Amino acid sequence: MMTQYLEIKESQPGALLFYRMGDFYEMFFDDAIAAAEALDIALTKRGKHLGEDIAMCGVPVHAAEGYLLQLIRKGFRVAIAEQMEDPAEAKKRGSKTVVKREVVRLVTPGTLSEEALLDARRHNFLAAFAEVRDDGALAWIDMSTGGFWVTTCAPSRLAPELARLGPREVLMAEGAEGPYASLVAEAGAALTPVHKGTFDSTAGERRLCGLFNVTSLEGFGAFTRAEIAAMAALAEYLDLTQRGQMPLLRPPQRERAGAMMQIDAATRRSLELTHATGGGRAGSLLACIDRTVTAAGARLLERRLSAPSCDLATIHARQAGVAALVEAGGLRRDLRERLRAVHDIDRALSRLSLGRAGPRDLAAIRDSVAEAGRLAERLEGEELPEELAQAAGALTGMEELGELLDAALIAEPPLLARDGGFTARGFDEELDEARTLRDEGRGVIAGMQAEYAERSGVSALKIKHNNVLGYFIEVTATHEAKMRALPEVFIHRQTTASQVRFTTVELNELETRILNAGGRALELEKRIFTRLSEAVLAEAGPLGALARALAEIDLAAGLAELAAAEDWARPVLEDSRAFEITAGRHPVVAEALRREGKPFVANDCGLSEAAIWLLTGPNMAGKSTFLRQNALIAILAQIGAYVPAEAACIGLVSQIFSRVGASDDLARGRSTFMVEMVETAAILHQADDRALVILDEIGRGTATWDGLSIAWAVLEHLQAVNRCRGIFATHYHELAALAGRLDGVENAHVAVREWEGDVIFLHEVQEGAAESSYGVQVARLAGLPEAAVARARDVLKALEEGEREGGASAALIDDLPLFAAAPPAPVAKPVVRESEVEAALRDVLPDELSPREALELVYRLKGMV
Ligand code: ADP
Repeated sequence: MMTQYLEIKESQPGALLFYRMGDFYEMFFDDAIAAAEALDIALTKRGKHLGEDIAMCGVPVHAAEGYLLQLIRKGFRVAIAEQMEDPAEAKKRGSKTVVKREVVRLVTPGTLSEEALLDARRHNFLAAFAEVRDDGALAWIDMSTGGFWVTTCAPSRLAPELARLGPREVLMAEGAEGPYASLVAEAGAALTPVHKGTFDSTAGERRLCGLFNVTSLEGFGAFTRAEIAAMAALAEYLDLTQRGQMPLLRPPQRERAGAMMQIDAATRRSLELTHATGGGRAGSLLACIDRTVTAAGARLLERRLSAPSCDLATIHARQAGVAALVEAGGLRRDLRERLRAVHDIDRALSRLSLGRAGPRDLAAIRDSVAEAGRLAERLEGEELPEELAQAAGALTGMEELGELLDAALIAEPPLLARDGGFTARGFDEELDEARTLRDEGRGVIAGMQAEYAERSGVSALKIKHNNVLGYFIEVTATHEAKMRALPEVFIHRQTTASQVRFTTVELNELETRILNAGGRALELEKRIFTRLSEAVLAEAGPLGALARALAEIDLAAGLAELAAAEDWARPVLEDSRAFEITAGRHPVVAEALRREGKPFVANDCGLSEAAIWLLTGPNMAGKSTFLRQNALIAILAQIGAYVPAEAACIGLVSQIFSRVGASDDLARGRSTFMVEMVETAAILHQADDRALVILDEIGRGTATWDGLSIAWAVLEHLQAVNRCRGIFATHYHELAALAGRLDGVENAHVAVREWEGDVIFLHEVQEGAAESSYGVQVARLAGLPEAAVARARDVLKALEEGEREGGASAALIDDLPLFAAAPPAPVAKPVVRESEVEAALRDVLPDELSPREALELVYRLKGMV
């Protein structure tokens, strides 16, 4: 066995080997040590190899999925070696023969298909990056849904594309992956180097043609060599990991570069589009706007939000769909109600194609098809815009398949086909018979006994069973003659002291049938399962279209629901450089505030005339919130959604750049300032006149004058060279003067009110520059000790006065009086110096004072102040 194990193990470099032994998957040697630690399970020993103990651990087969998931999450790949024959058969070949085993599947992060291993509402992408000469391409699939996409991708675009897709695994040609390793890791994906030949575009083209059963790929689009290479690598890798059991793949969709809004990785992070800063979905824009009720609808929303469109016609069509359902509230509610009953068709189809499906997947298709029919009925006669009408049209046509599944399956079938019991009665006569025999064997025998009693005239005739004869007919010796009178029916088997036993051809047959009935019923059900699976897969194309239509309707209804519930507005989108937002809100911040019972202050933004706003205001006033909300509104508008504002008019935004907040990237050895400058450099190099740029506190990571100079230069560059629309938030008030001088830059500030030395945040964005930065007041609000606050005030005052008088700041600081705060007094025992009044009051006993004495006391006290 060890020889076999080692052979298989050697064929799977880089993967843990799950070696099937009966009801367990066992791991040995280093695999066992690694897996036991990763899974926190017991490590044991089994036998010896070359004189050393063999480390071993194992997981039960029935619970393997959970363990697999843990291992995949921890970055392992797992090869699964199954027993390919019954151990009894191996025994027959010789007592020492080892059961045949083969690797049936390689489980990697990008090739998961089991429901339990996947997040229903998120894609699980496997990507491949190919370089052919100077050309690059990225292809990606979701094996669990069959989705397949490809786009041209220069190496410099790889990082933003990976940030958009968030693939779990990325394939690259062996030897070529070096420069990209850190980039892939940063995107949170596992990098899998594969043999160079995998990326061969000539062989790849043939393979892809074979896969889609076409003679040329041209029907799907005009692909570059690099694109074909990347797609081919995916196909080859699926073949390798799925051991030839190819999952269902949709024809590749080619994404045109420039068709989507460009959003780089840093911007995605800072805007928290699909993931919040903490990494999860909660707190992201996606979580905030997702009102879809199906998993496929949620996945579609994530795809759209990750890549807002730059095509006016597409955006208008999607928007019209949403608008129609905002208007028709009743229809929207009905649709959403129905959609709740729809299952994940794509994932069920994928499992069916991989042979990993169960009867519930068939039932999911059955129920979804039926529900789609009801949706189509509901939509009939409604005035629908193009996009929805098209979707509605794809909902029907599967009735025949639906009827077949309806007739074939019981209402709530079991998870696994293995044990049968999912086929409905009346679907297959043979199966019904087999089941009847199995379940009601006794009843059938009883019926037969009555029949024979009548035919022979022996009413005491019995059908009995024993292990020697099986089923037999028994009569007392007195009735033997009557039986023998019908020799063509009753065949004599045995005579005992007082009984005579017969059988019949029919009974013999019945016996064999009863014995085999259980096995036979199972066999028949398995065949039915295969037949049904084939029938479903034969309709994979139209079913896929139906699933897409359902997802589209769900998404449109979800966005409409959101717009109606939150009172969002339909934005006007046009081919211009307009950017006018009336009473805009930040959807995520507003939602968080609402939960605390606080209002959100809506703000206007108008970048059309002055393309750049220079926004000043103290910390905590709401600058970053305002910056982000305008970027989010543009993104929402371009996915075809309504926006959190009273009105919006937006000229198509081709790129969004955001540099908001800074965090040290210590892992990569870069300081805050360095990260900020790298990202700013990228913006100044790339932003065009259709870009929207939001920059927050550029230059704060360095000394004041340095920082101010950089901020100044960046602002000028954006205005003069990039000529983009943007908002530039700063705490350098000196910059505000610049705005007065530059055409197309305008001052705005977030208002605060000062009250008794404190600041009150109004969160209102107003024209003109802020008067003060209120840093000291904000520090006080944050709980800085009073002594430090007072000192800061003094320093600030001296600096400001000095500045007005033209003094150098170093000299000013020398002139400042020394820090004069008393050391903090212990809190438990406050030392308070008493005033004269207090001392006088200390000994007074009010209860014992006469009115006159009290009056005298008041006069005395008054005399002290
Ligand atoms: P800044 O960038 O100026 O330091 P933030 O944008 O981070 O300020 O906002 C600070 C806090 O103020 C936010 O967490 C939010 O709670 C609140 N806030 C910001 N904008 C608004 C608004 N428009 N209405 C109500 N509260 C707001």
